[in-house]
Order: sequence, then C-alpha cells, then structure tokens
Amino acid sequence: MTPPTPSTLLDSAARVAAARLEQLRRAGLLREDLFVDGRWRPASTGRRLEVRDPATGELVGSVATASATDVHDAVAAAAGALGAWRALPAGARGEVLSRWQELLLSRTGDLAALLTIEQGKPIGESVGELTYSAAFLRYFAEEARRSYGEVIPHNRPGRRLFALRQPIGVVAAITPWNFPALMIARKVAPAIAAGCTVVLKPPSEAPLSALALAELASQAGMPRGVLNVVHGDPVVVGAALTESPDVRMLTFTGSTEVGKLLMAQCAPTVKRVALELGGNAPFVVFDDADLDAAVAGAIESKFRNAGQTCVCANRVLVQAGVHDEFVERFARGVADLVVGHGIDPAVHVGPLIDEQALVKVERHLDDAVSMGAEVRWGGHPHKLGGTFFEPTVVVGAEAGMTIAREETFGPVAPVFRFETEEEALALANATESGLAAYFYTRGLGRALRFGEALDFGVVGVNTGSISYEGAPFGGMKQSGLGREGSHHGLEEFLEVKYLCVDGVTAPGH
Ligand code: NAP
Repeated sequence: MTPPTPSTLLDSAARVAAARLEQLRRAGLLREDLFVDGRWRPASTGRRLEVRDPATGELVGSVATASATDVHDAVAAAAGALGAWRALPAGARGEVLSRWQELLLSRTGDLAALLTIEQGKPIGESVGELTYSAAFLRYFAEEARRSYGEVIPHNRPGRRLFALRQPIGVVAAITPWNFPALMIARKVAPAIAAGCTVVLKPPSEAPLSALALAELASQAGMPRGVLNVVHGDPVVVGAALTESPDVRMLTFTGSTEVGKLLMAQCAPTVKRVALELGGNAPFVVFDDADLDAAVAGAIESKFRNAGQTCVCANRVLVQAGVHDEFVERFARGVADLVVGHGIDPAVHVGPLIDEQALVKVERHLDDAVSMGAEVRWGGHPHKLGGTFFEPTVVVGAEAGMTIAREETFGPVAPVFRFETEEEALALANATESGLAAYFYTRGLGRALRFGEALDFGVVGVNTGSISYEGAPFGGMKQSGLGREGSHHGLEEFLEVKYLCVDGVTAPGH
C-alpha cells in the first residue's frame, strides 16, 4: 500500500473536521452572531469576518463584524445588568458559574473539536484547555464567597470603620487566539464571580469557541447582559470599549505592543487595567539537573501549541557540563514529534496560526543561522505545506540574535551555552519581558537563590508545566500588570471602599 501523501493526510483530516462542525451546528454550539443582552443578533454593519482552519484553509464559519454602535449596545446591556447582578448573594452568582462549568465539561468533546479546527492545536491539548477552563469556573464559583472585607478598629468613640470590597463595575475583556477558551475563563469567571458584568471581544482568528462558551453560559442561566460578546475590527471595538465612561476596567491578554496601546487608550477615562502580555521565557538547565526531566520539560514547554504560548520556553540555556548530552537527547525527542492536523489524535504539533507567524519563525531562524547558530534538527517549512513548520532545534544561539530578544511564537528551540550560575542569571534576565521562567537543578540552595533572583512573575523549578487555577499567574516588567488565578485574580475586579459610620452611641444618646 502506498503511504498517504501530505495532501491526502490533510484531506482526510478536513473531512473529519467538516463532520465535527456539522455536529456542532446541529447541537446549536456553532454560533456566529453577536451576543448582546442575552440575545444573538447580527451586526449593524451587515459585514462578516471569515474564520478559517489554519491547517487546511477551509472555511469554518463567518462571524458578524460589530460596529461601534453594537459595542455601545453591549456596554449598555452590561451596565443595565450590573445592579441586579452585584446585588445577588455571592453564592447565587457562584451557582450560575457552577452550572456553566458543568455544561462545559459535558460538552468538552464537541468544544475541543471546535477549538482545534479554528485554532490548530492538537485535540488532546484542546481537551486540556477546556478542562482547565472549567477548573477556573469552578474555582471562582467557590472563591466568590470569600471576597471578605475588613472591620477596622475605630479611631473615635461612637464610630465603626469598615473596608468593603465591591465589584468595580462593567469590565471589558479582550483575549488572544492562542488559548481561545482559557483566556476567557481566566478573566470572565473572576469578573462575574466578583459581581461585575462583562463585554468580551474575542480574537478574529478564533472567535467561535468564545461564542460557544457564551451559548453555554446562557443555557446555564446567566442573566441577560451579564456576559456580552462582540467581535470585529479590533481598532473599532477596542476604541468603543476604551472610550466608554461606563466601562470601569479593561482586562487584556495579548501582545505587549497592543497592551501598551490599550493602556494609553484607557488613560483619559482612568480605567483600571489588567494586562497579560508577551513573554520571552528562559529555560535553564544546570549541570546538576535531572536530564531526563529537563528534556521532557523542555519539549513540553517549547512545542505545546506549536510554540505559540506566552509561557513557552523561548530560550533554552544549558550549562557547559551537560550541554552536548542535553542537546543530543533533546533533538532525539524533538525528532519523534508528529506534525499534522490537530484533529488527528496522533499529532503533537499543529500548524502555525497564519502566514505572518510562519514568516516570523523563518526570520528568527535565518537571523540566528546568519550569526553562526547551527540547526541540529528541522529548520524548514514542513512538507505538509501551508503554515506547518518542522519542530526545530538550533545550537550556538547567542544574546545578540533576534531569537534571544523577541518572542518567536513558533516551534523553534534555540540552545545557548553558559558556564556559571551568574552568567545564566544575567542571560535569563536580559529581556524586557518577565512572564515565565524555568530552571532545572537538584540543589536546594540554588533552587531558592536562583528562583528569587529571576525577574519573572511565574517560575517553574524542575518543571515546565506550572499552570494551576489556584496559583497567581502574571508578568513582571513589560509582560503585564496584575494577576489571574487564585484569590489575587478575584481581587483584580474588586474595589476597596472605606465606610466610616459615626453616631454609633449608646441607646438614648
Ligand atoms: P494581539 O495581536 O495583541 O491580539 C490580542 C487581542 O487584541 C485580539 O483580540 C486582537 O483582536 C486584539 N487587538 C489587536 N489590536 C487591537 C487594537 N488596536 N485595539 C483593541 N484590540 C486589539 O495578540 P495575539 O497575536 O492574539 O496573541 C499573542 C500574544 O499574546 C503573544 O504576545 C502572547 O505572548 C500573548 N499572550 C499572553 C498571555 C499571558 O497570559 N501573559 C497569554 C496568552 C497570550 P484581533 O484578533 O481582532 O486582531
């Protein structure tokens, strides 16, 4: 039998994808309109935006393109729903989130197929993303009841002093394509748990998962106007959201460049901003590391989602004593990665999101090679064509290369050699980003010393996988402001109000 050619492989995946989409449509989970005030409605522009499978280029759907007026309607709906929603007992808000979580878990198979088809990641990763999203809904359903205030010892007789914690109000949330469900759950669940209402703008590349989540929220009994979803031209939607005086907070996940722009746009109305921005994670392997664990961790951290995560190992720094052995084992592991359409359960690495992403990967690689780096494995567009790129290992990377300074956001692992711990620290911290960092060592002293000295908001020691809804996640330096997950994630959406009550005197006085 002749082995399948790249195009027949993609053809058969495209057929499976089409069948899964048809199932989703029949199940009412393939929504394409705006979700405003609890209703699905077309955009007033009459225009639609095509969503395509990044693996095949096939049309997946076409979503309505919101005008500024549509966005204002969504903000008005959120503002209208705020009073009743914040007045509900926290436990009642938590019950809605819990029902949403149960529905999400009951539809994980369908939603995972949708996520893979619109975004490209392997189906197992999509299931993981949705399960993790559900964990955020559950966590904040429970945490809502623990948004305690304070009773402050009074400073004068007859007075009582309180610090109340109240929802900030209407929240605008803007999310990226690389985790089309998770980035929403991490923001919307705490905002809604805190008593805020939300207008969400999902990414143009992968908006369908957001709409399916909104459909499930509606089925879970989320009252009208508490969650609204508008998509479209990012400049139009972003301006309408940030200019609105009714929006009290912007929570954004995406590139540092757009985050800075939105921060400036929020200044005239002095909105609170929470920003989860780009990373440039160092992955440091010391001579005393468990090399098996380090190789497995580096592969997981670097190649998950085809290298398109903000916490991806962007620079692999290896101490001289284990450098050659690490590189050999790492390249062997990378050679075993299966590239293909994510709907195939055997696939480890899917396509890049678009042509521009492929061009960036090639630019980083060409620059590194022109400056003396050497490709150990991969190094080319994949034979499947389109936006597929071979999982790649490059050695001899150095600080002056573009690959060291910028987030590659693709399946290319540059390996740097270092001699001392001081040198590793200087290299690791030599970036404007400060999101995630990882290092492997068996030394307890070094684990604490190096962990404390890294200028990053999230540090994994002897692990490349740090995600947990109960832990605070967020960046230092130009990687952002604020934290998501844990009780810190809820606090982002609460304001402290000082309430000073005088006249609490004895009866008759
Ligand atoms: P992006 O280009 O900044 O887009 C993110 C979101 O912002 C999308 O919804 C996008 O809309 C919207 N947007 C773009 N320009 C805008 C504007 N002028 N006004 C208002 N909204 C605008 O980022 P991306 O390429 O989707 O995502 C990748 C980046 O996100 C990487 O840098 C990654 O590191 C970062 N990220 C960070 C975290 C974290 O937790 N720190 C997590 C995931 C990703 P359109 O899609 O319609 O253009």
